[in-house]
Amino acid sequence: ATTVVARRQHRGLRAALVEPVADLLSTMRLVRGGDLNARPAGIGPPELREVATVLGQMTDTLVADRSRIAALEANARVEAERLQLMVSVGREIAGSLSLRYVSEAVARVAIAITGFATARTWLLADDGGSLTALHDTDVKHGGRVARESIRLGEGLVGRTWRSGRVLSNSPDGSIATEHRVDLLTTGLAVPMIVGARVIGVLELTTDVASVVDDAALDIMRSLAGQAATAIEAARLHRRADEMSHTDVLTGLPNRRRLETDLGAEVARSVRYERPLTLVMLDVDHFKIFNDTHGHQVGDEILAEFSHSLADALRETDTAYRYGGEEFCVLLRETDPTAAAAVAERLRTRIADRFAGTNGSRAVTASLGVASLPNDGNDAASLIEAADRALYAAKAAGRNCVVQASDLPPSTATPVRAVLIGGKPSA
Ligand code: GH3
Ligand code: MG
Ligand code: MG
Repeated sequence: ATTVVARRQHRGLRAALVEPVADLLSTMRLVRGGDLNARPAGIGPPELREVATVLGQMTDTLVADRSRIAALEANARVEAERLQLMVSVGREIAGSLSLRYVSEAVARVAIAITGFATARTWLLADDGGSLTALHDTDVKHGGRVARESIRLGEGLVGRTWRSGRVLSNSPDGSIATEHRVDLLTTGLAVPMIVGARVIGVLELTTDVASVVDDAALDIMRSLAGQAATAIEAARLHRRADEMSHTDVLTGLPNRRRLETDLGAEVARSVRYERPLTLVMLDVDHFKIFNDTHGHQVGDEILAEFSHSLADALRETDTAYRYGGEEFCVLLRETDPTAAAAVAERLRTRIADRFAGTNGSRAVTASLGVASLPNDGNDAASLIEAADRALYAAKAAGRNCVVQASDLPPSTATPVRAVLIGGKPSA
């Protein structure tokens, strides 16, 4: 009987304690193994059922934490991707001196970050009176810009430029004077600032109104700042480049520019078998002119001479100051026959223009003409041939035109210069 009682007690105890504890333990093992759906059955005496409830609550908290962490991780991934984009575009545009390239790269990243449909950079025009769109930055419409110019202070972009703050378009068409993160937006404009100057505006538009979050807004601000710096650097570089290729006295492109242009034009002419002519001009007896009228007047004459030279040319032709009182004219797509006519026209223009109605300031020039392919096969031989022709024109009495093809071959000093026009003066 004692044994029977003992067995019954043992079974009772097992049902009351051992099974609930085993259930708790197996649930805990499942949770520890990562199964957050496991819950204890909640059996046994009240104390153990309490333990089961608390265990269930702890697991609930774990589930909540885990999904919060997942959300944070997803956010961090998006942030990291955005920063990665920022860093790579920063690297890309910092070294670029092309406005077009900088503006395209910035537009691409702005669209990737905000999910907006179009991005466009507006730059303050050189005269400072309006904002001009760079044509190639409308990613969605393949570079078509509806309005090419915006007045300062007008519309979303103009007002953003004036205020120097981020502004946005509301779906109802009004402009929010202070962009807030919880606002629905169809257009966002971010000022591009260098130092204390707003040099332009980065404009983003979207067809579906959306909210721009804080982090995206921060990145857009810093992107616009980077773009502004890169654009300013590109502009300064372009100006410095222009200045280094422009003659200060006459405003004409200088010898350095001629060398670049001539190289490119000769290559093109040779490749496509097109004619090309180089004219060299030298003002006659300019030393005497200087001695008579003074260097200052000489300078003025050189500037005037340059203007009338440039004015007399077609748009496809370019005049350069080669140095001192020497000039070059590049006649594109011009064969020797046409070139002879152009050179003669230039000579008479100059002679007429500076005939010196008072008789004392008459200025003439001598011209040497050389053409591809007859007189040379590269830039150096073309210059050399034109120079030889010019020398011949001087020798023939000045104020005249000589063509290199009319000179005897491989003789530095011509036996007889063939005059196209003009009269030997002595
Ligand atoms: P030629 O008909 O043989 O060309 O005679 P030239 O006196 O013009 O030639 P030369 O080469 O002996 O002298 C060139 C003169 O041009 C001398 C120089 O004072 C003048 N000259 C060159 N550059 C300038 C300039 O920038 N300003 C002024 N005022 N004179 C210049
Ligand atoms: Mg000279
Ligand atoms: Mg001279």
